[in-house]
Amino acid sequence: MTLNRRHFLVLLGATTSTAALGMFPRASVAQTNSEQQPYSMIALPYAYKALEPYIDAETMQFHYSKHYAAYTRNLNAAIAPYAEFSKLSAEELLKNLNRLPQAIRTTVRNKGGGYVNHTMFWQIMTPPSPGGGKPQGEIAEAIVKTFGSFEAFKEAFNQAGDKQFGSGWAWLVLDKKGKLKITSTPNQDTPLIEGLYPIMGNDVWEHAYYLKYRNNRGEYLKQWWNLVNWTEVNRRFLAAKS
Ligand code: MN
Repeated sequence: MTLNRRHFLVLLGATTSTAALGMFPRASVAQTNSEQQPYSMIALPYAYKALEPYIDAETMQFHYSKHYAAYTRNLNAAIAPYAEFSKLSAEELLKNLNRLPQAIRTTVRNKGGGYVNHTMFWQIMTPPSPGGGKPQGEIAEAIVKTFGSFEAFKEAFNQAGDKQFGSGWAWLVLDKKGKLKITSTPNQDTPLIEGLYPIMGNDVWEHAYYLKYRNNRGEYLKQWWNLVNWTEVNRRFLAAKS
């Protein structure tokens, strides 16, 4: 018996509506080698060198073609023996972590988290001008309303990234009450696990900045704002609210 996606969600006991599922369109741009794998790398929307001088080409090349590729490959490998689960998007898997077979929970949390976090990360960045600058759209108003000013928001976000001990992420999330919040997570944990919607996140693993910034995470956090794709961040904000 094959289960379609809706039946499967019922099986999981998920209350998620199909409209909400639309918030997480499956990555449609397949990379080479992905064949029939359920989870595909998205194509990098710009060249490796396009984020210079803020993120160097070598960092981007390793980050995308080694780290991201490994998260994607390992997620697919973990799910392979459980064909019925591959009908779910990676976001759905992470939101339902405790309903997955125990044998793959940790792997999905780590590798699936790495997969969704990086899939977002590539898209919320864009080459400097049009990247960077001030927020645009409704997210701009929401940031000022919640944090007082864009400057205050950036400072709090950078602090979350700086204080995250070891590897992890700094996040702007929308909580269940529809309120913006700044958080951080260790490792590849996604806010989705806690029912929070990740609007934007910055990768503070050393692999994201060490070649150029060495041990100076604070400087990386500061310069990273030159690359933020506010159009995409605003799109994610609107999707989270709807
Ligand atoms: Mn990374």
